[in-house]
Amino acid sequence: QDKWKVAIVGSGNWGSAIAHLVGKNVKARSDRFDTEVKMWCFEEDFEGRKLTEIINEKHENVKYLPGITLGDNVIAEPDLTKAIEGANALIFVLPHQFIGKTCEQLQGKIPAHAKGISLIKGVDVKDGEIHIFSEVISAKLGIECAALSGANIANEVAAEAFSETTIGCRDLDVGKKWASLFETEKFRVAVNRDVLGVSLGGALKNIVAVAAGFVDGLQWGNNAKASRRCARVLVELAIDATPFFALEFFPGTEPETFVQESAGIADLITSCLGGRNRKCAEAFVTTGKPFDQLEKEMLNGQKLQGVETAKELHQFLKTRGKVDEYPLFTFVYRAAYEGVKPDSLTAHI
Ligand code: NAD
Ligand code: 13P
Ligand code: CA
Repeated sequence: QDKWKVAIVGSGNWGSAIAHLVGKNVKARSDRFDTEVKMWCFEEDFEGRKLTEIINEKHENVKYLPGITLGDNVIAEPDLTKAIEGANALIFVLPHQFIGKTCEQLQGKIPAHAKGISLIKGVDVKDGEIHIFSEVISAKLGIECAALSGANIANEVAAEAFSETTIGCRDLDVGKKWASLFETEKFRVAVNRDVLGVSLGGALKNIVAVAAGFVDGLQWGNNAKASRRCARVLVELAIDATPFFALEFFPGTEPETFVQESAGIADLITSCLGGRNRKCAEAFVTTGKPFDQLEKEMLNGQKLQGVETAKELHQFLKTRGKVDEYPLFTFVYRAAYEGVKPDSLTAHI
């Protein structure tokens, strides 16, 4: 098999954590991978200098993943076309709202034999249709695209604390090669064929994590968060809305993925305990500020995915006449955008 030349499309909190792992692994596994990795950075100024210049000098993404060294074989590149030049293995790791535009700029520039993997947690909703991002990338770029998702708070993975993740890839041989690009002693990768289930777990848990943050902000306590009533918040993903939603709109999804894989309930738990969506939703309750303002004030350029996803899903469910069948998703949307009080959560679900 040919060596893979890897490019990373994205360089935020998760993108940089992944660059840290991949940079090490391509060196250690140079029989399989070209040892240089380009990482596309959406350029911006940081303390008066270009962020890419600082990354390439310090080998650290000082804005999005401070304190973690990236290998000197990871090269930050502000020009998207240059970043992917010559690559045949592309890792897509951007906040989901930016992937459409980014793919458009890549159209016609990726060879058909190249392989992609999406680390994006979100769904693409347009004109009453819904797709996972592996499908969007495949359709726009004409390449096969796998998915990687799991209970993976980026700062913990980057600090090499123990984590598991799941890769969904229709071709298991390709999936195993992807696994060998990411896997370390502390970052364990399972591979299955369920690209849909792997992608949907991560997309939908972001909405549930917003609801968990509301419960924290309301200071109802841990029992409430885990209770059958309010925290359908915690159980919803495993036994209810996510598999139900997945099977209704993405036939072929394997419901076991939500129960057995890191991309399912494990990710829901970690996100409801320690994620950014949770944190900002707590502040939404305690400060009364809108989410876009909280994102700016609290996340230093990082992006919230849960409230956007709640809005997109709501639009989709509306066109399908299914709003009332997904009460938790609908509640999060209404609380975030329509002034429904978070403390009415138990009444709505
Ligand atoms: P992030 O939240 O750190 O977002 C910041 C990044 O977005 C920066 O690289 C910034 O340059 C970029 N950006 C801003 N405006 C842009 C634009 N107009 N076009 C392109 N890029 C732009 O990003 P992240 O944490 O790497 O998240 C990427 C994806 O990975 C998301 O879908 C997220 O849900 C998922 N994810 C994140 C984590 C985590 O813990 N951070 C873990 C697992 C999965
Ligand atoms: P947040 O975006 O809520 O921080 O979730 C990160 C994540 O996906 C953990 O697996
Ligand atoms: Ca094969």
